[in-house]
Amino acid sequence: MTFSIHGLAVARGIAIGRAVLVASSRVDVAHYFIEATQVDEEIDRVRIGRNAVVDEIHRLQASIAHMGPKEAPHELTALLDVHLMLLQDADLIDGVKHWITDRLYNAEWALTTQLEVIARQFDEMEDEYLRERKADLEQITEKVLRAMKGVASPVTQPANRTLRKKSQQDLLLDDTVDVPLILIAHDLSPSDMLQFKQSVFAGFITDVGGKTSHTAIVARSLDIPAVVGARLSSQLVRQDDWVIIDGDAGVVVVDPSPIILAEYGFKQRQHELDRGRLTRLLHTPAVTLDGQKIELLANIEMPEDAIGAVKAGAVGVGLFRSEFLFMGRQGKLPNEEEQYQAYRRAIEGMEGLPVTIRTVDVGADKPLDKSFQDDAHLNPALGLRAIRWSLADPAMFLTQLRAILRAAAHGQANLLIPMLVHASEIRHTFALIDRARVELDNRGVAYGPVKVGAMIEIPAAALTLKVFLKYFDFLSIGTNDLIQYTLAIDRADESVAHLYDPLHPAVLRLVAGTIAEGRAQGKPVSVCGEMAGDTTLTRLLLGMGLRSFSMHPAQILAVKQEILRADTSKLAGWAEQVLADDEPGLRVARS
Ligand code: PEP
Ligand code: MG
Repeated sequence: MTFSIHGLAVARGIAIGRAVLVASSRVDVAHYFIEATQVDEEIDRVRIGRNAVVDEIHRLQASIAHMGPKEAPHELTALLDVHLMLLQDADLIDGVKHWITDRLYNAEWALTTQLEVIARQFDEMEDEYLRERKADLEQITEKVLRAMKGVASPVTQPANRTLRKKSQQDLLLDDTVDVPLILIAHDLSPSDMLQFKQSVFAGFITDVGGKTSHTAIVARSLDIPAVVGARLSSQLVRQDDWVIIDGDAGVVVVDPSPIILAEYGFKQRQHELDRGRLTRLLHTPAVTLDGQKIELLANIEMPEDAIGAVKAGAVGVGLFRSEFLFMGRQGKLPNEEEQYQAYRRAIEGMEGLPVTIRTVDVGADKPLDKSFQDDAHLNPALGLRAIRWSLADPAMFLTQLRAILRAAAHGQANLLIPMLVHASEIRHTFALIDRARVELDNRGVAYGPVKVGAMIEIPAAALTLKVFLKYFDFLSIGTNDLIQYTLAIDRADESVAHLYDPLHPAVLRLVAGTIAEGRAQGKPVSVCGEMAGDTTLTRLLLGMGLRSFSMHPAQILAVKQEILRADTSKLAGWAEQVLADDEPGLRVARS
């Protein structure tokens, strides 16, 4: 039966494929396709992993066999029996074989997929005791996964499966392996998302998350259709269901009828044609009708993204979110050399164009690692995040500063500092930048010049620009956080997403004021939050005087198209009217 789920549109386009349900805690399991010739070896890997856990349980059973009920209570022996039974369950074994043989999933992916299928059956059981066995099943799966880690994968190169283009009718009938897959999870962390850079998935859906949560931002950078905040989707959709993602409308259609499928197939082709047309603008300079040159920069998460940024027509990187180098490493932070090499790769990848590297911004919805999730503090977004974290750990910060300064010897680099608010933080930051230079001098290591900029992303900073303009070479407005902190809306919380409004008068005043004051002082101002890539806001930002936009590369050409049609001399007066409105959104929507 066809039904739809409504969420938040975060990454544009239409994706049509089969659902792959993944428990959030297991997303960091590798997902790739194997070659048909590797099926037996992958099945063997699961078997060896499973046998290792069975042996471990047998050993445990033997060691407690002679103990009394005090040391080895009856519950423990019963539990071990249940675990053994589950490990030998035909559903688990046959299911895993099916995913490997018929779908060519790698062993870990096959195991976790089958776990989801069985877990769903447990959820539906009436009997509470049986329902609770789901936790046992999860435990043994974790154990097998861990045991498998020691069993090297014979697959050195994941199969790069290219999807054959199919008609919608073909898709419905298809049961072969080359059908697009849609990932569905309750939640995905930003570091989970990074794994999908080389993704086998054609789109993804999460139950939670806001439009500018970091998970959504990474999704946009992957440039695949995605919907977040689609509550309960991970419970309502079943493994292997046909699913359509309408990333423009934020809608998920489950089990579509042939008519709906045909309609979305048409939309999908239309979308591809529109994108194809935009590529004609690739080499057109971004200049408005009245001759204003506009700088279009890219936001990137990893050094390798620089190549895509150049291809997309960016004239530089306006925001390299360096924290992604720090995430998902079980707390082991990258050392100076590793960071230096990463920044250098990004700089060299940009082929002489400038790269603005933002110092690490972890905390809030960007935990270093899943195990570092900040549950201890009530308001992590207001806590030890970004520059506050860096200043609290000067050795870590100095390591990063030295690495960036060294990389700056290989091309144009700028340093960008996030979340500043106090003059004392600014002074402290500059003192540490000086110290990093001295340390490199003392070691006789070469480094390059950098311009230093501040992110304006806290209202207090936007209201006290004088001190920022005194110290910094340029400003970059982080509208994602500026909106969050101005409106007191958690950007990652879908339940208040309808109140997260870039067009709130207070937000617009802070943005416009920052652009105007920066320009008046002759200091470059850029916007690097998601507002910069939103084509419905391009004209307004131009009217406010913005001349530098930084966004994820996939949006650059669409924004350029808006710029080519704009006349800033006319937009300035209109932007003033918008700023004076009580409900600017209405005027912008009408225009
Ligand atoms: C912002 O806050 O707008 C920004 C660009 O930084 P981030 O999204 O990484 O917090
Ligand atoms: Mg920010």
